[in-house]
Amino acid sequence: MSFTDKAPYKMFINGTWTNAENMKVFEVKNPATAEVIGTVPLGSATDTKKALDAAQNAFKSWSRLPARKRGEYLEKIKDLLIENIEELAVMITMESGKPLSEAKGEVLSAAENFSWYAAEARRVYGEVIPSDDAKKRILVIRQPVGVAALITPWNFPLNILGRKVATALAAGCTIVAKPAEQTPITAILLWRILEKAELPDGVANLVTGDPVEIGKEILDSPIAKVIGFTGSTAVGKLLMQGASKHVKRLALELGGHAPFIVFEDADLELAAKAVVRNKFRNTGQMCGCANRVYVHEHVYDAFTEKLSVLVKALQVGNGLEESTEVGPLIDEQGLDKVKQHVEDALRKGATALVGGCALENSQGFFYQPTILVDVHKEMDIMREETFGPVVPVTTFTSEEEVINQANDSQYGLYAYFFTKDADRCIRVYESLEYGMVGINESLITAIQAPAGGFKESGLGREGGHWGMDEYLEIKYVTHTLSSEAN
Ligand code: ADP
Repeated sequence: MSFTDKAPYKMFINGTWTNAENMKVFEVKNPATAEVIGTVPLGSATDTKKALDAAQNAFKSWSRLPARKRGEYLEKIKDLLIENIEELAVMITMESGKPLSEAKGEVLSAAENFSWYAAEARRVYGEVIPSDDAKKRILVIRQPVGVAALITPWNFPLNILGRKVATALAAGCTIVAKPAEQTPITAILLWRILEKAELPDGVANLVTGDPVEIGKEILDSPIAKVIGFTGSTAVGKLLMQGASKHVKRLALELGGHAPFIVFEDADLELAAKAVVRNKFRNTGQMCGCANRVYVHEHVYDAFTEKLSVLVKALQVGNGLEESTEVGPLIDEQGLDKVKQHVEDALRKGATALVGGCALENSQGFFYQPTILVDVHKEMDIMREETFGPVVPVTTFTSEEEVINQANDSQYGLYAYFFTKDADRCIRVYESLEYGMVGINESLITAIQAPAGGFKESGLGREGGHWGMDEYLEIKYVTHTLSSEAN
């Protein structure tokens, strides 16, 4: 039997595949066709409680397992991900709509995360610090926080979830994960892999279903000590409020509104290609997508011409077709938001240089790749995340002016700029109020690097050794020698 075929899809609690206690289910749709591809348990507070209890019970033995052993489980998961890449990628495309090549890339990234954290588990170092007293020793050790609740979005249904799972398990935490309601089947497939890797019962639990009920149980219960969340700033703020009840730790990767600056000395060909690679990847549904492109007035015409040629050539379609470069939006709500942003911009004076409306005659949630010019900051698209295939382009005259414009946002996640001037590079990256900055490149995620945001884009970092800190407590120990002879 195929690895993906094993419907009905179920939750995984304490090492057992389970239905929701109330036996309710919800449907998952393919955004390219609007067809139902499966049903999944509509888990509730009761199911979440069982999962939290299971994680709590498994914590002691998992956290005390030598790091090398935990790493061996993670390596096994990496091997299984690669072994099943084709089937996983098809399901990612069917659930999220992204082109198959991007889905395969996502499986590889997820596998790499498991491999990275398998090794990182063994590098949770402590410190021994000289004391002021000859008889005293000062030690600092790092220990797993406890049960981690992981709440993840639909845009990278395997990789964002996989990275959190890998990090938390490596640190010695046990987990309860809740994937997005648009893409729970990919998460279930990841759990089939965790099951094959023979993780001990209760170490990794998966609950699908009602986000509000599940979220409330996670917050109200004292069991989960940390919440790892990627999603909207609005939900991030709700979690912050709820987390105050038990003073839970939070690792939040929230919304962004990335500026993309093209200075007058930039390689325009490279910059235009970089905008397209960044903005149309995953149909513009990434928190790292360029939301505002600022082009120096002297190169504006040349740049927009190059950009238009590239955007007009993009192939839109079902991600399962090989020629597809841009898939559908995730759902009707996602499509409506893109429509509203473009309509608002057009009403306030923008012009659609390319595209500007939804695709006619399609059952899925498709929008034309679009370039908007004559945009200004009173438009929604210049302030809120569009999460769609629309590039708003405007001009600037001076470095100081464009830095001020770039920083004029509640968000501070990704920023990009293109220039060949080394001094300017330093001035600009030091001035940008963003957690991640790309110079002359636009896809900057790297497994070794810390990912996270300033301002309302989040708290904490994922990736590299920094990611582990979110799931580790620091313990200071002082030890006084009892004997006089020291
Ligand atoms: P997006 O706008 O990208 O869908 P959301 O923040 O709505 O982002 O969703 C990200 C994740 O947060 C999903 O798994 C979703 O189900 C979950 N979520 C949404 N609302 C809540 C909530 N009130 N409590 C906990 N999780 C929630």
